[in-house]
Order: sequence, then structure tokens, then C-alpha cells
Amino acid sequence: MRKRFVIGNWKLNGGLAANAALLDKINLGVGINAGKTEAGDQSKSCGVCVPSIYLAQVQHQLADGFVDWGAQDVSRFAAGAYTGEVSAKMTAEFGCRYTIVGHSERRAVFGDSDAAVAEKFGNAKNAGLAPILCVGETLEERIAGRTEIIIMRQLRAITDKFGGAGLDGVILAYEPVWAIGTGKTATPAEAEAVHAFLRAEISKFDLEIAANIPILYGGSVKKSNATELFAMPNIDGGLIGGASLVAEEFLGIWHAL
Ligand code: PEP
Repeated sequence: MRKRFVIGNWKLNGGLAANAALLDKINLGVGINAGKTEAGDQSKSCGVCVPSIYLAQVQHQLADGFVDWGAQDVSRFAAGAYTGEVSAKMTAEFGCRYTIVGHSERRAVFGDSDAAVAEKFGNAKNAGLAPILCVGETLEERIAGRTEIIIMRQLRAITDKFGGAGLDGVILAYEPVWAIGTGKTATPAEAEAVHAFLRAEISKFDLEIAANIPILYGGSVKKSNATELFAMPNIDGGLIGGASLVAEEFLGIWHAL
């Protein structure tokens, strides 16, 4: 059975005191129900992807807790003269289980190309992190009927470089750009159609990987819409932006998993 996840993406938000309070509430609320400890439900897991500067704080606070953590991005380079960058290996030293790569904000605001995302993906895997690979179309692309073309271009950037086997151990996130931070959520049926398409395409590479790869939905998930989204057969949880900063909302989403 494939694993289900609720993972927060704090983006450029946080502060030492606010993080500590939020993490306390989330850790307590998630409790033994999460599969991080042996006594927990191994079929599901909760995590937070935080700004890298806070990884030490999060590691310290959550090491003996119930919630996993990860980075929001890593460098496309492994090491060297790249001022301001943080490598995948560095984040792994702080206990990260995963890192987001290819988030639409990285692609749109920071110019991450498909090739750069593939390099980051490779570095994450080499460092022992599960890449959370984000794919998704803009509103214009959806209206033009190009959703499948766009997400397959983003996925092929990975499979062309690493083969279908490169998707082993990966978490995929379908995040329609028009739904991120906009309050507009894809309907469960709209999201499910894309998730099912992605799984069918991955099955052309490898049936077992397709059956086991968690495909998360991201885009204005809230506790009020999580239950119906997570009820879809190919939606294996969510990548949560804004709502991950409010403990009650995030926990509401977790309990819908
Ligand atoms: C995200 O940033 O990955 C995201 C899904 O954001 P939001 O939940 O705020 O739409």
C-alpha cells in the first residue's frame, strides 16, 4: 500500500519564536497517529518543509517528535563557488527526509528550468533525500488544453535524465499554478483526473513504481476541502502552503488524511 502524506511548505515565512510555537502545536496534534514512530500508523506521515536557515531549530525540536521535516529547495550544484546556495547534502545533515524541487514559485520567480530541476532532483537523491517533485500548469495552459503536455514535459525532464527507475522513492506533487495561494482549489474530480493521468503515464515506465509513488495535491488545500480531495483514489495527501502556517488548519488537514 502506498504511503500518504500531509506536508507543509512554509515558503518565506517564520521566525524562531513563531516556529517554536507552531511546531509544538503540530507535534502535539499529530501525535502517535503519524507513522514516524514505531507505534504510529505507518501508512501516513506528516512533515514540514521550512526555510533552510531553520533546519537546525526544527531538527532540535522535532527529533524525538512525530513530525518529519525537509527543505524547500536545494542547489543544482553539489559544492563550490556558488554564493548563497545550500546543497542537498547540507540539508541532509540536519535530518531532512525530503526536499521540494521544481515548485512553481522557483520555476516562475527564480527561473528554475526543467534542466535545473532535474539537477536538483539528482542532488537530492544522491544525498539520500526523497525529492518532492512539483509539476503543474498555469491557468493559460489549462484553458488552452495543455495541462497534460506541460506536466509531462516537467516529468520527462526527470525520466529522460534518470530513467523511469529514477522515480523510485520520489513523492510527486501536482500543483496547478492557478490554485497556489489563490484560494481557488481544483475540484476533486479535476485533480483526480490529472493524478490518474500521471499514474498511468508512470506505469508505462514501471508498474510497481506507478502503484507505489505517492502523488500529493497542492493548491489552496484547507481543512474545509481536504476530506473530499483526499477521498479521491489517486490523491495520496497534500502539499500545503498557506494553511501550514496555522496549526488548527494544518491539523484539520492532517486529520482529513
Ligand atoms: C504550495 O506552495 O505548495 C501551495 C500549495 O500553496 P497554497 O496551499 O498556499 O496554495
